[in-house]
Amino acid sequence: MQNVPGLVVTGASGRMGQMLIRTIAASDKARLVGCLERSGHPWVGRDVGECMGGAALGVLVTDDPLEAFVQAQGVIDFTAPAATVEFAALAAQARAVHVIGTTGLDPVQIAAIEAAARHAVIVRAGNMSLGVNLLVRLTQKVAQALDADWDVEVVEAHHRMKVDAPSGTALMLGQAAANGRGVTLDSAMVSGRDGITGARERGTIGFSAIRGGDVVGEHDVIFAAEGERIVLRHLATDRAIFARGALRAALWGQDQKPGHYDMMDVLGI
Ligand code: NAP
Repeated sequence: MQNVPGLVVTGASGRMGQMLIRTIAASDKARLVGCLERSGHPWVGRDVGECMGGAALGVLVTDDPLEAFVQAQGVIDFTAPAATVEFAALAAQARAVHVIGTTGLDPVQIAAIEAAARHAVIVRAGNMSLGVNLLVRLTQKVAQALDADWDVEVVEAHHRMKVDAPSGTALMLGQAAANGRGVTLDSAMVSGRDGITGARERGTIGFSAIRGGDVVGEHDVIFAAEGERIVLRHLATDRAIFARGALRAALWGQDQKPGHYDMMDVLGI
């Protein structure tokens, strides 16, 4: 185990933080060498396994990012945009691969990440699931192969707590369809039809959202023509898929040159 990459998890107490800690602890391809939380968080100074209500993992939670990052080969970060920008500079300084799952970064924050990626490997994706990234690529290829006789509709379902629609993943899929067609998503997008909308306009890309219960995330991309229909579908049933994707990205990043990569690069698709 000493020869496998050592990883730090930021936002250790978060939903994804805890999922990542469990995923790394169960893997023989990496080892957990650090866990980070904000100063003053009740977990700081305690064994992270015990904080999570399980057996000790031999890793104390720290509030000092640089101290944690210098002992690691990778940092997996699902926190918040401002924290992620700070961690990107520190991970680059420590020469650790930085895997970013945090969403909602603005253009200024993305520029700061690009600057850090001049000195270190950064892998960033709004959806780290291997299946969703494959679906994005398939959507682009199918859209490229078919003309506008095939209507494109993206349908997504999520849990009742989700506050935004369409989901970031639905937008990624719509963008992939637009790219395949050689149009901009802004010009083609039709979202949330209601009332007397008139007939469907040729070439548009439609979006619909379902909200309810504890649905982790479901996405269909429908290509509908006269007499036939293709449905590309991804169903997420467990948040562990995002953690497994992030771990795979951290391992893949060990052999790369500095740069800003995404999950398509990791998957080689
Ligand atoms: P969460 O449960 O709220 O966890 C966020 C964690 O980050 C918390 O532990 C939080 O600590 C910590 N944090 C926030 N700001 C921090 C800072 N400045 N310094 C240190 N720690 C900080 O949220 P989540 O559901 O795990 O999601 C986290 C992020 O991942 C979101 O942006 C979400 O959209 C994204 N996400 C991405 C994917 C993907 O595949 N890319 C999948 C799922 C989620 P406090 O509690 O102290 O604030």
